[in-house]
Amino acid sequence: MAYQVKVGVTTFQGDVEEHLLALREAMRRLNVKGEVVTAKLPEEIEQLDAVVIPGGESTVMGRLAQRSRSLDVLRRRILEGLPVLGTCAGLIFLASRVYDRVVGETRQPILGVLDVTVERNSYGRQRDSFEVQITVPKLGREGFRAVFIRAPSIVEVGPEVEVLARYQERPVAVRQGPIYGTTFHPELSGDTAFHEALIEEAVRFSKR
Ligand code: GLN
Repeated sequence: MAYQVKVGVTTFQGDVEEHLLALREAMRRLNVKGEVVTAKLPEEIEQLDAVVIPGGESTVMGRLAQRSRSLDVLRRRILEGLPVLGTCAGLIFLASRVYDRVVGETRQPILGVLDVTVERNSYGRQRDSFEVQITVPKLGREGFRAVFIRAPSIVEVGPEVEVLARYQERPVAVRQGPIYGTTFHPELSGDTAFHEALIEEAVRFSKR
């Protein structure tokens, strides 16, 4: 029998819809049976086999996660091995250290589960948003369309962090065990490589 996994997208704040579609498409491609749901409340987060934290605005996202009493639950579950994909603001939310060139350390609520230092709004005004082709060999992609929108950059990675892709030398996609982070928006690329990687992690996690 096919495995039944439940994968959620957090709805504290940010662009949810495209991730729901990408997750469904990824499940179809992998022939994994499962449910794709939105999640915000602690009891919803408790039920997931994997979670996506979308892009948006990371300060607001962190505050709303606190307000719905979900920040601690999410952190605990990720530390227990819950697979997660954080994209753009979602990556910022996962990071251990966050700063901004203008204000310095941002002191925003973060999960602190991914051992990277992230600089917010790193590409400046002229390059508010842009698209480039990157390669993601570990996910079997020689060409992947990466869409950056007011993107952060990853300026430091800890010893446990594997770099999956770079752009202009800097890491733009990383992984620490089942914790995946991208500075770009993979849900907008039309390629479900990252969502497929997450679903595969969800299947492993649900069998533990
Ligand atoms: N600049 C946003 C932040 O720092 C992230 C932008 C995005 O998620 N597209 O929270």
